[in-house]
Amino acid sequence: MRSDFDRELEQRLVRYAAIDSQSDDTSPTSPSTEIQLNMSRLLVQELEAMGAADVELTEYGVVLATVPATVEGAPVMGWCAHVDTAPQFNATGVKPVVHRGYNGGDITFADAPELKLSPENAPYLAEKLGEDIITASGTTLLGGDDKAGVAIIMTAARHLLENPEVPHGKIRLAFTPDEEIGRGVDARLPGDMACDFAYTFDGSKPGEIEYETFSADGAVVTVTGVSAHPGWAKDKMVNALHLAAKILMTLPHVTMTPETTDGLDGFIHATTIKGGSSEAEIKFILRDFEREALAQKGALLRKVCDAVQASEPRAQITCEITPQYRNMRYWLENDMTPVELAHDAVRAAGMEPVSVPIRGGTDGSRLTEMGLPCPNVFTGMQEIHGPLEWISVQDMAKALRVALELAKRAVPS
Ligand SMILES: [Zn+2]
Repeated sequence: MRSDFDRELEQRLVRYAAIDSQSDDTSPTSPSTEIQLNMSRLLVQELEAMGAADVELTEYGVVLATVPATVEGAPVMGWCAHVDTAPQFNATGVKPVVHRGYNGGDITFADAPELKLSPENAPYLAEKLGEDIITASGTTLLGGDDKAGVAIIMTAARHLLENPEVPHGKIRLAFTPDEEIGRGVDARLPGDMACDFAYTFDGSKPGEIEYETFSADGAVVTVTGVSAHPGWAKDKMVNALHLAAKILMTLPHVTMTPETTDGLDGFIHATTIKGGSSEAEIKFILRDFEREALAQKGALLRKVCDAVQASEPRAQITCEITPQYRNMRYWLENDMTPVELAHDAVRAAGMEPVSVPIRGGTDGSRLTEMGLPCPNVFTGMQEIHGPLEWISVQDMAKALRVALELAKRAVPS
């Protein structure tokens, strides 16, 4: 039941997941953490050892390499994955565990006896009978997001480099840092990748090809109050915390937050609040699939800030909104070729393609916006960014088959 590909994918994921490469959104440096380079440097070594061409670690922290073409005249295709893991959960000291031949029951965790993974809390697991499941040991995430993508691309590249009789065009590989904190795509990356279209391998269930993402803005609201000694504050003090709370409570928090929306509905999400009575700052992320609806959410936030400002003219309230990324569909719908090619590859690998809008963004959202069309391909990763994260080796093998089908199909007929 286990193929050579299964074995290689499993070994790569276990090896990569054990390396701590968590990003940090509070760090001003690029990459945000030095430890991500441990993954990047390892990939450089492994790519050189397998005979990839043009292997480099760019000064902005991206590993680039080429699988040379074996036929003339094919378009240049890119494959991307990110080396960082999510900052939201402990990612230090990951101990990957392989549960071979899953029996349908509960999966327990050596370092967290209270924890269990079962078809009750992860219904898709029920479909994985007999497959090899990889988890962490209970106190960390696994980091299959996106080490699974890295393992799939590395295995596909190794296979193509060793089998030059397989006809395919030039394939450019890119392994980015800081995807999880939205800083993975340097302005130089699309030019340096130098390809006609690309795919991120950063999706979930087998068959999924994603070409619609959120459009995203970030907002920072600053409230400056008036400071005074609390003993003599009557008619003088303006407490920034009360005004910040008023802003939060005036926003539609029962209809427009991540916890109250799904499907195609966007939200305004307060991510952090910090400060004291004299000054407070609230950070928000604004999300919607459509540009106009996203702009309306920004206008609503400003309107609430203005209203609270008007209620207390002695305070000073500012609201700064900055664009983050845009729905890749706006660009892809002009030329659906990369999406159709991926759908064909999924069918050729024996699955039915599924394309649902992602309530999030990928490096591909930015790349697409910058002129490099880049849909997202599944990897198999499940329950990501937490201790129950798991992945089936056989699902990864399906993504590998899709990669190889993509290589085979992107050739002149
Ligand atoms: Zn990811």
